[in-house]
Amino acid sequence: MLRKFNILNEQETSTFISQLVELCDEGTQVLCFHGDLGAGKTTYIKQLCSNLGVTGGMSSPSFAIVNEYWSEKNGTIYHFDLYRLNDPQELLGIGWEDYLNSQAILLVEWPEKGANFIPDDAIHIFINHSNDPDSRLVIITDQPKHYV
Ligand code: ADP
Ligand code: MG
Repeated sequence: MLRKFNILNEQETSTFISQLVELCDEGTQVLCFHGDLGAGKTTYIKQLCSNLGVTGGMSSPSFAIVNEYWSEKNGTIYHFDLYRLNDPQELLGIGWEDYLNSQAILLVEWPEKGANFIPDDAIHIFINHSNDPDSRLVIITDQPKHYV
C-alpha cells in the first residue's frame, strides 16, 4: 500500500487525514510518523485525533514519552514521542508490550528510535518538506523499508 499526498498548507490536509482515520477505523493499531524536527508529526497527530473525536485536552508529549487521549468512537489513544529514547530497550521499561497488547491506537513520533520494537503491521507516514515552507510531501505506506 502506497499513497502520496501533496499538501499545500497546514489547513489543506483533509484528504490525507481522512485516510488515516479510515485506517484507524479498519483496525490499524500502530501509526508511525517519520520526519525531521518541524516536519509536522505533532501537527498531523493533533489533526488526526481531532478527526477521531478526541475530547478533553491534548497536551504535547515533548516532555513525556507518552500521552493518553480518549475518543468516544475509537477508545483510548496513546501518543508517543520517542525522541528522547537513548536505547530501544527503554521501551520495555515503559510497558511498550502492554500498550501493544491493549486495543488502543498507538501514534508514534520518532519511531526509528524504537527500532525492532515497532510491529511489522504498523502503518508508516513519511513527512517531507517541499519547495514552499508551508507545503509537505507525505507518503502513507505499510512498506517502510522502501523509504528509510
Ligand atoms: P514535528 O512534530 O514533526 O517536530 P510540528 O508539528 O511540531 O513538527 O511542527 C510543524 C510546524 O510546521 C508547525 O509550526 C506548523 O504550523 C508548521 N507547518 C507549516 N505548514 C505545514 C504543513 N503543511 N503541514 C504541517 N505543518 C506545517
Ligand atoms: Mg513533534
